Amino acid sequence: MTCRKCSEKPVIKLLNSSAVLCRSCFIKYFEKKVKRTISGYKLIEKNDHIVFAASGGKDSTTLIYLIKKILNSRKDVKLTAVGIDEGIHDYRDKNLEFLKKFCKENKISLKIYSYKKEFGKSLDEILKKYKGIPCSICGVLRRYLLNKKARELHATKLATGHNLDDESQSIMMNYFRDNMKISARLGPKTGIVKNKGFIPRIKPLYFLTEKEVTAYAFLKGFMHEFTECPHSSEAYRGSVRDMLNEFEAKYPGTKHSIINSFIEILPLLKEKFKKEDSEIKSCTICEEPCAQSICKTCQYIKNIF
Ligand code: SF4
Ligand code: ZN
Ligand code: ZN
Repeated sequence: MTCRKCSEKPVIKLLNSSAVLCRSCFIKYFEKKVKRTISGYKLIEKNDHIVFAASGGKDSTTLIYLIKKILNSRKDVKLTAVGIDEGIHDYRDKNLEFLKKFCKENKISLKIYSYKKEFGKSLDEILKKYKGIPCSICGVLRRYLLNKKARELHATKLATGHNLDDESQSIMMNYFRDNMKISARLGPKTGIVKNKGFIPRIKPLYFLTEKEVTAYAFLKGFMHEFTECPHSSEAYRGSVRDMLNEFEAKYPGTKHSIINSFIEILPLLKEKFKKEDSEIKSCTICEEPCAQSICKTCQYIKNIF
């Protein structure tokens, strides 16, 4: 068997087709897809300051590397990586070490903020008292911190490494939980209405599968000794991920179909929930933008810390 585009030895079979590609054709295919997403959805504009939500994992590392490569030393766009240290023993510290090394080698400015310093407690300490699903509280705190820090850094966009698998999981989770309002905030570029407190999020890896991102990261040497968060299997997302993987194996193309049909209805969802999202308030405690009078982060701090 040879590469679909040339006569070289293939390294990957694409998920939604029977095509196999060699190393160099796959890298070209991958980078072209990211460029198309950026231009098609206007993810990066003139004079942007892009802040990356960087974890030291394969997705965000691939994202930072590629955006830097695509922008090719464009002087008008500024890039900064932001790492969040949740304080999870034997997990995040390793990834953050890799992130520091990667940012240094690629000349990307990096800022790291920790739960311990920002909220007074690490996630490990919080979980001694909080008995719910760890990802529920961790996700709220991380999104809060990323948005706040990106805004303080005067970012115009917050770029995340979400891929097609992550997004199809989020879409299905919102269906299962009757949460279409949250789905209205998904898509390659989020933000239904402009609110100066919220930094718009962009997802340049949106149309690439987990398998493709992993292959790209591996071929580029970004795969280090990668450890999974010890709490990841406890999450609802984990069950949805396993279900979708099983479905994809039986019915190839399932994940692409979820994304394609979601993209079709997304403008209708955004229109439907536009009004509710325009009624964003400021938290009476921390003054961050939120839907109620007290934001979820302050509610957690008040009740659990
Ligand atoms: Fe936090 Fe859950 Fe992610 Fe672990 S898997 S870092 S607990 S959101
Ligand atoms: Zn080839
Ligand atoms: Zn608050």
